Amino acid sequence: MNIHQGIQSIIDSFHDHIVIVDKHGMIAAVNKAWEKFGLENGQSSSTIGANYLAVLHNEQNSEALQAMLRILNKKSSYEELSYPCHSPNEERWFQMVIEPLHLSEKENGVIVIHQNRTAEVQAEYKLKDMLESMTDAFFSLDEHWKFIYINEEAERVLGKKREELQGRGLWAEFPEAVQEKFYENYMLTMNERVTTRFEEYHQPLNSWFEVVAYPSEYGGLSVFFHDINKRKEAEQKMHFYAYQDDLTELPNRRGVFKEIKQKIENGSSFSLLFLDLNGFKQINDTYGHDKGDELLKKVGARLQHSIGVPHFIGRLGGDEFLILINGCGQKEEVQPFIDQISACFDRPFGIDDHTSFTISTSIGISFYPYHSKEASTLVSMADTAMYEAKHSRKQEYIVYHPDMHEKIERRLHIEQGLAGDLREAGISFVLQPQMDMKEQIIIGAEVLSRWHHPVYGFIPPNEFIAIAEESGYMLKLASYMFCEIFIEMKKWIVRDRFNIRISFNVTSDLIASESFFDDLFDLIERFGIPTKYIELEITEEAEMTASRAVMQNLLRCRKQGIIISIDDFGTGYSTFAYLTDFPVDKMKIDKYFIDQIGANERTEAILKSMIQLSANLDCEVIAEGVETKEQLHFLIEHSCHAIQGYYVDRPLSIQVFEEKYVRGEQDGTVNSN
Ligand code: C2E
Ligand code: CA
Ligand code: CA
Repeated sequence: MNIHQGIQSIIDSFHDHIVIVDKHGMIAAVNKAWEKFGLENGQSSSTIGANYLAVLHNEQNSEALQAMLRILNKKSSYEELSYPCHSPNEERWFQMVIEPLHLSEKENGVIVIHQNRTAEVQAEYKLKDMLESMTDAFFSLDEHWKFIYINEEAERVLGKKREELQGRGLWAEFPEAVQEKFYENYMLTMNERVTTRFEEYHQPLNSWFEVVAYPSEYGGLSVFFHDINKRKEAEQKMHFYAYQDDLTELPNRRGVFKEIKQKIENGSSFSLLFLDLNGFKQINDTYGHDKGDELLKKVGARLQHSIGVPHFIGRLGGDEFLILINGCGQKEEVQPFIDQISACFDRPFGIDDHTSFTISTSIGISFYPYHSKEASTLVSMADTAMYEAKHSRKQEYIVYHPDMHEKIERRLHIEQGLAGDLREAGISFVLQPQMDMKEQIIIGAEVLSRWHHPVYGFIPPNEFIAIAEESGYMLKLASYMFCEIFIEMKKWIVRDRFNIRISFNVTSDLIASESFFDDLFDLIERFGIPTKYIELEITEEAEMTASRAVMQNLLRCRKQGIIISIDDFGTGYSTFAYLTDFPVDKMKIDKYFIDQIGANERTEAILKSMIQLSANLDCEVIAEGVETKEQLHFLIEHSCHAIQGYYVDRPLSIQVFEEKYVRGEQDGTVNSN
């Protein structure tokens, strides 16, 4: 093996004792420190050409010997062993390091180092680094920056011949390097005598290098380097993927935040639009993830096409997209873009030959710098506003407002309450009597939910019912209501022979649900409640008339003798379709019309015809929200004798209702105000 001059000069520059052993176990090279050590210790055997294995054997270091044989026989190529050992006279201690050395493709050698534990200077030299890079490009410089030596690999990489460079100055040969990191790092190594390690792009060679520069013993530098273009390319690819969403090929969450931060650094105003698709989950659940994914792709592509450059669109995850509109710092400016986004959702999204989806979106907006100067805060504000838009049902987009946080927190608390034990949460029921004013008897009572929340106090039923509907707790709430009231009804019927109808409000979702009615009929049977004492109040909604499920469920009720009434009659969607198409027994005229009595003749006329209509259809009628004597007189005059409202009584706790209307005065005396 021929150890070339460069390597010899490198190993000579170390204080540690170094031996290089070839594949036959013969010493191929030693450094000056080793020679000196050998002389001092009278070990003439350990010179070039000697059998190092024999030397080791003499030292009786069998473990090291075994390791070395493993490496030389190529049974192990990455072994790195480190043993404490001492000089023959036991005066000095060393750490013996044995490492494989790839001398050529076929040849394995070994390098043995006695790291001198006592020499302080040793720490300065990162010996291992150096040895590892022996297949690297290498050159050495003298203290005047002149090339002393360059190896073949360096010739290849730098594209210059050894003869061209030797004796020439580094900075004159590579002037561009002065502008690059090479200059400051080499200067540091040269002047401060410290090792520097860095990565840099060298423009003339269009190449990235990893470089280690060591100060050499004689005052110059030893520089090792190799190109890392492949790694850099991979890194760049990784970077690209790290910031891109696989599905839509839009920037992902990380990419979005990076963009926002950059925009903030630039300092010019922008608006941040947080989009969330409405009902995406249902599509995903019903049609499968593949179709859901395809829909997301289509939505992303359409939005990008519509909004696109110079603005920005990314996908935060799930069905959430984020759009940045440059230069828009307030509501008026962003309006045209909202219109543009809305237009994207006007047409259905074609998924395949047989499938297309029509979907809408809710948008929350925050403005930089008006709302915040921080990326994550801006996003969370827009998110909050989006959430608000989603629940408003009417508004497609909403601009962030600080009050929203409180609202959302409240909503979350309410949802948590609904998720737990409803009684413990403070939910109970009240009953409001319904009276026949002609006969002066109680004819029924409506059950209304009440919630005395430990934190928020009284929560209006409209609020928590809407939340229960949206978060899927309506069935639970309804079962709780039926159980609670059926217990009382059973008691009243058996004990008090109390026989009036109790009416329950049922949301349209439940009316369409077969399992709700299965549960209800189960309970009716379990508690043994005659169905004629049960009334269900439903509201008018467009979807309901079209639904076969609703019709079937209502017919099932009629067959079983349950009374169906239309709540808030006159305010809903298509009053007459309801009356003619549906099996309806009773209409509850909304408080709106009652309030107009004595104030608006036109409304009075409508009210009169509604009462007339009920008579013609042989349908019961009751007026809701009656508060005054005047209202009462008008209603009686026009033959509506059934009334519900504060004029008769407020909604009462079960206990009070029982005392007042069940046990005591069953003839139902009306209070005198
Ligand atoms: P609703 O079904 O129209 O119930 C009548 C509402 O009017 C009740 O309000 C009642 O307290 C109120 N009210 C009765 N008489 C008068 C009056 O003379 N003057 C005035 N100003 N108001 C009167 P409440 O209890 O706040 O309920 C509001 C709505 O919440 C109900 O309207 C109903 O839609 C819903 N709701 C309440 N409890 C339940 C429930 O258990 N289930 C369902 N699905 N909805 C419920
Ligand atoms: Ca009602
Ligand atoms: Ca009502």
